[in-house]
Amino acid sequence: MKKAAFLAFVVFLLIHQSASAWQWETHSTLAEKVCRDFNCSCISEIRDAAVIPDRDFKDNINHHCYNLSIPCKPSKYYSCPKKNSCPAIEKMEDWLSKSQNENGCNRSSRSCSKLSDTSCQKWKDIGIASHYFFDSKVFWHKVQGESYSDCHEPFEAAVEKKFESGDGSNWTIEQCGAEENYSNMVGYVKEFENILENSSASQKAQDTPLLPECGWRCKLRNWVRILGSYII
Ligand SMILES: [Zn+2]
Repeated sequence: MKKAAFLAFVVFLLIHQSASAWQWETHSTLAEKVCRDFNCSCISEIRDAAVIPDRDFKDNINHHCYNLSIPCKPSKYYSCPKKNSCPAIEKMEDWLSKSQNENGCNRSSRSCSKLSDTSCQKWKDIGIASHYFFDSKVFWHKVQGESYSDCHEPFEAAVEKKFESGDGSNWTIEQCGAEENYSNMVGYVKEFENILENSSASQKAQDTPLLPECGWRCKLRNWVRILGSYII
């Protein structure tokens, strides 16, 4: 009995720990890949900036994108948008144009040491822009009238768990009829990188993996989570 209680406690700790970074790990990891692909040398800055709209601006009213030209399947879980309204992309554009005015010095580059701004400000702006872009891709940010607690939140939490465990396998999650999968997430980063290449002088240098393949640690953590959901 004592053993079972101890096991339950360990499982609780593991689950609780991973839930502390709700949804932010997803945003930060997506932005980090952009930084790595562009050799931006501002990883911690862009990871932090990627959560600024949720954490600091709290302007959730600007995080959706209703687009009537995208087919929408009617469902009991949500209603299809009735008008075009996409402040998320407008915000992204604002922050990308702001980023073009920053000096954008890479701390690792030689010329950087001669410049005064080593603050990674350009990449912070790009990190903020990425938040709005990636939010515009969330299924629940494209429809209206859904239940936040039954559909929207568990959907984003399931994706977050994949990012927290560093699961780069070909996963798919499903919630209230909405699906998301790993290759879509990689595709969203590619789309944002294309926008970035077309809107600024930055050039993509490489294509790094978004998440590593799910190794033994990741598999163990997933296994413990499944076990935990039976115990608690
Ligand atoms: Zn958001």
